[in-house]
Amino acid sequence: MDNALRLKYLDAMGIDVWISRHHSLSAENITAETDVEVQPDIVEPSPDPEQLWTELQQQVAGCQLCSLAQTRTQTVFGEGDKQADWMLIGEAPGQTENLEGKPFLGQPGFLLTEMLRAIGLQRESVFITNVLKCSPPKNRDPKVEELKSCNNYLQQQITLVNPKIILAVGRIAAQTLLETKQALSDLRGVAHQVRGIPVVVVYHPAYLLRSLPEKRKAWEDLQLAMKIFQEEQ
Ligand code: URA
Repeated sequence: MDNALRLKYLDAMGIDVWISRHHSLSAENITAETDVEVQPDIVEPSPDPEQLWTELQQQVAGCQLCSLAQTRTQTVFGEGDKQADWMLIGEAPGQTENLEGKPFLGQPGFLLTEMLRAIGLQRESVFITNVLKCSPPKNRDPKVEELKSCNNYLQQQITLVNPKIILAVGRIAAQTLLETKQALSDLRGVAHQVRGIPVVVVYHPAYLLRSLPEKRKAWEDLQLAMKIFQEEQ
């Protein structure tokens, strides 16, 4: 049958015709769609979250990006539920945390656990970390370059946990997370957003231990956080 006629018949039958661009229009090069072998899409396997956590933890443990690598005993990665709805971000490990490798120990840690309990949360059900993974010597404030070096680790943790709400604990955590220099008193009491996740700023438990009258404000902050969390459901 002549090619033009064959194409006409195929077209009339509703069959699309594929013609190789590299070949002339000859009978051998004309293929009805019914003959075409369909190649399956190549689907990349999605990375295993556990593996991503392990890799991130190893990166943090071996980090040499700033001079705190020389003074730390160990890094403090964070702990808790890696799929938590609530993520809690503090400033930096202190000396006890530097020795033990866990965040928020001692009296501030105890008060923090109680603050969480007050809004019905078990400490284990939250993911707790700090903006810095190494303890600054003599509990000094973190330096800008240290915060910058560590920020990528925190951002990856936020991505992996994908929490429904973040509590920024204390001024340094709040200012770092929200990229602002505003005072804590101006930042608390309202809902902020980071990458679409609501962020509530709360007083640091170490500060509350020194300034008991502020405890009532801390309670208000936590209640605000719970209200925002419930609205997100
Ligand atoms: N311990 C931490 O892990 N973070 C703080 O911000 C303070 C003490």
